[in-house]
Amino acid sequence: MSVIAANLNDMRTRVVTAATSAGRDPASVRLVAVSKTKPIEDLLVAYGEGQRHFGENYVQELVDKAAQLPSDIQWHFIGTMQSNKVKQVASIPNLFAIETVDGSKKADTIQKEVAKLHRETPLNVFVQVNTSGEESKGGVEPKDCVDVAKHIVERCQNLKLAGLMTIGSWDNSHAEGTNPDFKLLTECRDKVKEALGVELELSMGMSDDFELAIKMGSTNVRLGSCIFGARAKKADAKVETKPLEATTAGEGTIPANETAVTEVKLAENGAEPKVEKA
Ligand SMILES: *Cc1c(COP(=O)(O)O)cnc(C)c1O
Repeated sequence: MSVIAANLNDMRTRVVTAATSAGRDPASVRLVAVSKTKPIEDLLVAYGEGQRHFGENYVQELVDKAAQLPSDIQWHFIGTMQSNKVKQVASIPNLFAIETVDGSKKADTIQKEVAKLHRETPLNVFVQVNTSGEESKGGVEPKDCVDVAKHIVERCQNLKLAGLMTIGSWDNSHAEGTNPDFKLLTECRDKVKEALGVELELSMGMSDDFELAIKMGSTNVRLGSCIFGARAKKADAKVETKPLEATTAGEGTIPANETAVTEVKLAENGAEPKVEKA
């Protein structure tokens, strides 16, 4: 079995174990394989193992991959959603969700585009909440989550408010015990439920913290490096169509013909990545 297939099956087992030991139905947790910067062949390995939910961060990369890969894949857009790119993302027929709605205005922009497209079902959206309060992280402030959720439910008829999403801080995901960012997201979910009477999913948990996230109620874990291996490049990467050029030193860029010896901890939204020894 290939490494990717073995990793994926390993993670599936860990998801089921985490859910079961938390007294939850394993079927209530969706595993999204985050394939940003990874080549089509890697995604096909996971697809061959039955994986259908994939997450991508970069618009052009998602558009290219969606055009080349089977149409029963369910794509999650999990990157920063710029208004001028909404149309391209929304036009992908097998787009499952945009997980990174960061305000009512963005929701309106998505609504406008989706309304033109004659999708059979409303498009799932998650409101991204900036639980850690870091400037480098996107999302609405926790205090605004009810307003934005209400706006989507009441004003965006072609969107379905599927849930809330967060990334959280690196430090909080590597601390012992609970994770305050995940806790805050569950509190936001409770407030939205109280205000609007809707059941919402929680998209939280990545390679390093998904088991705790499941314990804390996550229904959608986004797993990248623990399936596909470390990403050798920084956040603005494209699909690898030609070998990378080593640009400036210290940027976390590793020439494609060398073995990656470090893991780049992706900082979102262009913040400096943390580079760690693997
Ligand atoms: C890259 C990314 C992930 C996956 O991160 P890993 O640590 O590789 O599992 C999950 N969510 C978002 C929003 C990401 O950008």
